[in-house]
Amino acid sequence: MPNLLEVKLYGSEILNKVAEPVTELTTELKELVADMLHTMYFTEGVGIAAPQVGVSSRIFVCDYEYTKSEKKKPLVLINPEILEYEGEYHLDEGCLSVPGVFEEITRFQRIVIRYRDLKWKEKIVEATDAFAVILQHEYDHLDGKTFVDKLNPIRKMANAIKLKRIANRAAQMSNELLCKEDESPQDNSSK
Ligand SMILES: [Zn+2]
Repeated sequence: MPNLLEVKLYGSEILNKVAEPVTELTTELKELVADMLHTMYFTEGVGIAAPQVGVSSRIFVCDYEYTKSEKKKPLVLINPEILEYEGEYHLDEGCLSVPGVFEEITRFQRIVIRYRDLKWKEKIVEATDAFAVILQHEYDHLDGKTFVDKLNPIRKMANAIKLKRIANRAAQMSNELLCKEDESPQDNSSK
């Protein structure tokens, strides 16, 4: 059974870090992907990137089809690279790491990404409109950016209190984590 992972909140250090490329497909990594997918569906997100669950690796998962039908059609992108981008597209975005904040962001309308899949095969995905937005949003997480970085100063100001509250919660969560680590738990069965 996959695990439900804790989603790191806006203000967490790892969300500002450029993630490391994946060098090989390990069992651990496959488990991580399964957990990320489980967490994404459970939290009703359309995508989730590894840094959002505390792992600084260049991996993200998404499922654009699931927003339109009940059929799950997950996409796992390892070491994605943007090959082409063009046009302009505006859409309201939200993020599991920034709960309660939804803002219109300007993105490219079309994007082509090369990546490796879970079988380490090289693949290409071409996306337009909302699907392209999801890919760009998740890709940004791998470069240590969130959609908040794309807000203009007025919209950032309008969300200042919400963002501060989320960042406070993130600080609280990381303190709790530090305390837990100090306790050096005897039982490691529930990783
Ligand atoms: Zn996000």
